[in-house]
Parts: sequence; C-alpha cells; structure tokens
Amino acid sequence: MNLDNIFSKAKEVFETAYKKTGDAVNVGKQRFDISSLENKLNKSYEILGKLCYDSVVNGGVFDAESVKPVTDDIAEKLAQIEEMKKEVLKAKNKKLCPKCSEPVDKDAAFCSSCGANLEEDKA
Ligand SMILES: [Zn+2]
Repeated sequence: MNLDNIFSKAKEVFETAYKKTGDAVNVGKQRFDISSLENKLNKSYEILGKLCYDSVVNGGVFDAESVKPVTDDIAEKLAQIEEMKKEVLKAKNKKLCPKCSEPVDKDAAFCSSCGANLEEDKA
C-alpha cells in the first residue's frame, strides 16, 4: 500500500464516520418528530372521544359528518407518521415486511419474522 492509498483509505474512513453521524442525527430528529406527532394524534383521538361521548350522553345520534374535520386530521397524522417511520427505516437500511409489518433488512430475500418472500416486492 503506497502513501496515496493510505491517504484515500483514511479519507474514506473519515467520510464513512461522518456520514454515520449525520444519519444518526437525522434519525434522532425524525424520532422526535414522530413522537411529537403521536402526541398530537393522541390529542385528536381525545377530542374525537369527547365529541363521541357528548353526543351519546346527550342522547344524540353520533354524527360522522360533524367529526369529519377531526377524523381527517387523524388520518393525515397517521399518514405522516407512517411516512416518517419509513424514512427512519430507510436511513437504517430497513423496510417493513408487507405481510407482517416487521422491520427487515432492505435487501433481505425473506422476512426474518414471518418468512414471507420479499424478492417479488423489489422494484
Ligand atoms: Zn414478515
């Protein structure tokens, strides 16, 4: 190994380490975003629960239309959380098994939890 090789090896190691740190920070931030979104989601569920409770207690019929803004909000947050979780998995080189929803290695041929064939799912 000549000096040039040693230098480029060191640069590679440095860049890999730096990249890893960057990823870790990103994943940490996303985790934080996910938990703060989950808190908001729980609040929305709470509001929905209260609206439902009120209408039942007051002898009213539960009106799905009147709570639509809340259910839309919940659906939106669920979708956002789902997306963020996928991003976190991608950063860790993982994906969700389409059958059992367990995280598996991105390049795994079979799910380590349920044994599903993951090859056909590769795009
Ligand atoms: Zn599975």
